[in-house]
Amino acid sequence: MNKIHRKTAIAETSDILLAAYDQGESFHWGRYEAQLPLCAFTANGLSCRKCFQGPCRINPFGDEPSRGVCGADRDQIVMESLFQATLDGVLETARSLALLDERFPGGNLPDAFPELPRETVKRLTAEGVLPVRKEDLFAVQNSYFSSKAYLGRTLRDLARLGLIHYRLLKEMQARFESFGRELPVFHPEGVNILITGQAPLPALNGLVERAGERPGGKAFNLFLEPSKAAPGFLTLADHGSPELALAMNLDALLIGADASFPALAGLAEKTGIPVFLAEEAPEKVLDLALQHHRGRSYLTSSRLLPAPPGMNPGPLDEKKEEIRGAFRSGDIQGILVVFAEPNVKQSFFARSLDLAEEGIRRGLLVLIAGAISAQVEPLSRELTRRFGGTPPRSPLLYPGSFYDIPNWVPFFRELNSGRGFDRLAAVISFPEFYRTSTWAAAVTFLSLGFAVQIGTPLPFWGSPGLTEILLKQWPRVSGGILLASPGLPDSQTQAREIGEVMETRKGGKA
Ligand code: SF4
Repeated sequence: MNKIHRKTAIAETSDILLAAYDQGESFHWGRYEAQLPLCAFTANGLSCRKCFQGPCRINPFGDEPSRGVCGADRDQIVMESLFQATLDGVLETARSLALLDERFPGGNLPDAFPELPRETVKRLTAEGVLPVRKEDLFAVQNSYFSSKAYLGRTLRDLARLGLIHYRLLKEMQARFESFGRELPVFHPEGVNILITGQAPLPALNGLVERAGERPGGKAFNLFLEPSKAAPGFLTLADHGSPELALAMNLDALLIGADASFPALAGLAEKTGIPVFLAEEAPEKVLDLALQHHRGRSYLTSSRLLPAPPGMNPGPLDEKKEEIRGAFRSGDIQGILVVFAEPNVKQSFFARSLDLAEEGIRRGLLVLIAGAISAQVEPLSRELTRRFGGTPPRSPLLYPGSFYDIPNWVPFFRELNSGRGFDRLAAVISFPEFYRTSTWAAAVTFLSLGFAVQIGTPLPFWGSPGLTEILLKQWPRVSGGILLASPGLPDSQTQAREIGEVMETRKGGKA
């Protein structure tokens, strides 16, 4: 594997990678290298599988073929790719919600958005985006493929999808809050079980109860993967990928139906870790995990740790009063949310760290959110090193996972005295990610009117016409700004971009 030491910006992760590599395992990185070179058509969104006359592709260099079999050109095909990726992302969240609560698909989502600033509601209503209902998921099929004149309407449907996604996240958060579960104690010498994907609630409950009932025996740590972090459960600080957990002291793996890592089962079996589907009988899971733990056959000597307990719920809640004061007095110049999960095309955490560092230097409130927030401790250590060994003046805060977005939005509205988010000195940055549901979260923030920055290569830039629409029409539809471009800027350029947004919006800051 090439340049293994550059696969991650966190030194301790490199150690695990190197140790696993010595044992013949190269995880995502080996498989990524086997894929190279990537298909230039698909990488630019210029391939289409919408119907069975295809798949079709458009030459990204201007040669033939310039149209699909049906006659669709690059703009139409890229818009279709973009639309389908956004819809897939929203449906991924809907699927997680349905797994968590089987009553969900029949239930309704309220169509009011009390947390949205009044001027944003007015703008979205004038654009025909609001009102929006869960049923609109079935109505926003991209039927506008027929004519390029419809591309603008597709953008409005993307906004509708973003708002539906917000409502789904809110439902998810409400379900978790209703559990009222205390965060369990982490046992460093305990038996470690990782649950990937969204396990159905009865399965989760069964496992938690049975693990707690075992008298006088070994304690069990039940971890959720960071992208599914939920209040009342330990979240695994997995160095950016559950595959790395397999190289540490993991004793059993439970795979949910919607888990994102299809190689996990095979890798776990190869390393002797018992694997189960999420609905497996709890007793069997606990027995075999204990048996593995007693054998102590782990790939490396690295040890699993939970994410900081503050993730459940985030210390943002405890710090709100302080933040309000600092924002109003000008001690905080603006807000940078670094919302990320590592993508194998980028050195894990590198761009996120660069942007967080710049945010701290600029006196911004830096919130580390999404799956990456499970790694906030090694990230903070790395930032301390960058600041010459002194912890940065304002520490990184972690407002929680994906499902906590609806918690922050009303707080941001309050900080901005109820004005539209297009007048808030804030950037929601996605420096690295790979899941379509994370892209759907970016669309959600755009739909709410935030400035959203993308730092990962996306397959949507093969159409100059569509790029123009995406960059110019969000401000009209919702007030949002998309900071992204076909030639991905380096992190220094993106840091400057954040500074420019802050400067422009300072006047609108409360
Ligand atoms: S480009 Fe047209 S013909 Fe080709 S797959 Fe897409 S919809 Fe079908």
